[in-house]
Amino acid sequence: MLIFFSTTITTLRTATRCSSITTRRSIHSSQLTIERTQDTTRFDQRPPNEHLQFGTTLSDHMLLIEWHQSEQWSAPRIVPYQNIQLSPAASSLQYGLQCFEGMKAYKSLVDDDSLRMFRPDKNMQRLAHSMERLQMPGANFDHEELLRCIAELIKVDAKWIPYGEGYSLYLRPTVIATTKALGLAAPDSILLYVITSPVGPYYKTGFQPIRLMTSTDYVRAWPGGTGNAKVGGNYAPTMKPQFLAAEHGCSQILWLFGENEEITEVGAMNVFFYLINEDTQRLELVTAPLTRGDILPGVTRDSILHLARSWGDFDVSERYVTMAEIAKAAEDGRLIEAFGAGTAAVVTPISSIRHKGKDIDISTETGELTRRIWNEITGIQYGKIAGPPGWSVKL
Ligand SMILES: *Cc1c(COP(=O)(O)O)cnc(C)c1O
Repeated sequence: MLIFFSTTITTLRTATRCSSITTRRSIHSSQLTIERTQDTTRFDQRPPNEHLQFGTTLSDHMLLIEWHQSEQWSAPRIVPYQNIQLSPAASSLQYGLQCFEGMKAYKSLVDDDSLRMFRPDKNMQRLAHSMERLQMPGANFDHEELLRCIAELIKVDAKWIPYGEGYSLYLRPTVIATTKALGLAAPDSILLYVITSPVGPYYKTGFQPIRLMTSTDYVRAWPGGTGNAKVGGNYAPTMKPQFLAAEHGCSQILWLFGENEEITEVGAMNVFFYLINEDTQRLELVTAPLTRGDILPGVTRDSILHLARSWGDFDVSERYVTMAEIAKAAEDGRLIEAFGAGTAAVVTPISSIRHKGKDIDISTETGELTRRIWNEITGIQYGKIAGPPGWSVKL
């Protein structure tokens, strides 16, 4: 009798735990609740579109989803944009247990009532990878379910998406550890939130090719580090070298790695060079490979590689280019274009690189290939060009 009783209870407990795991473990968009703001002043007082400064105006609502040991993912909530409460001991504040994403929602320029996103599945994969790298719980979340919640957030704030070429709603999914304990340990509670910000063309007066400076004293990322994850800890240490570059009139750092001075990234963008290869004497578009783990796998980077390979007009390579190769190519007149690539600006032409006190000049004009890539990618983002299947997602 006693044995029977205890078995029943154990079975019951197990059953309860199982059912709570299956219903609550994942992110469920069907559980999403929406609390709309009553305050219209934020919207009325937003700057006119042409005065938008990247990331400074935040829209009316945000998405919140928590993960706790007991219930795992909580029901997603869209609430009015507001400050969050956090213990001063939270490990995101103490040890940088934080990661994020950068993506955009667009108002179509062909059928202006449709809202679109660009390859959002890529951002979900990368977010999961960053969370996993920080040993955060919940990293196995259902990507499509989170995207459904994000799509609802975009729809709730659709009036905040400025219409026009170069305009979009920048989305910043963020995951922070909320664990309240000063001991350094893997987080047991996290908050995933998404805030959004209307943005205009990164370069208001058209492309402005930028001057770069290499950093020989500071390194952004290294094999075995976190360069391939979008974790906050990668960015704080770039402030000082960035400041030093600005003192030399250069707007971004060209990051190098190793004794051979292999070029890895530029600022917080991937970097591409378009040149005539010295060995093959053929045109080549080249960017650093992902194999060593010190390169952020950019969605823009991947899209450029895919498109350029589909055009078949020149060789496309993922390999490390050294400063010596770039200096020689420039000297020989084989260096044609160079540009940074990332969601915020799509492509950013590079005019020159200051390396060890000397300038390597590329071009003060925006190159043909840089423009072609910009036209193709923005064309797909705004629904003007079909693009590969699944790239432009209608909400
Ligand atoms: C976000 C980021 C990029 C660009 O990635 P996209 O997905 O193209 O926006 C490149 N490098 C670094 C270091 C980044 O943080």
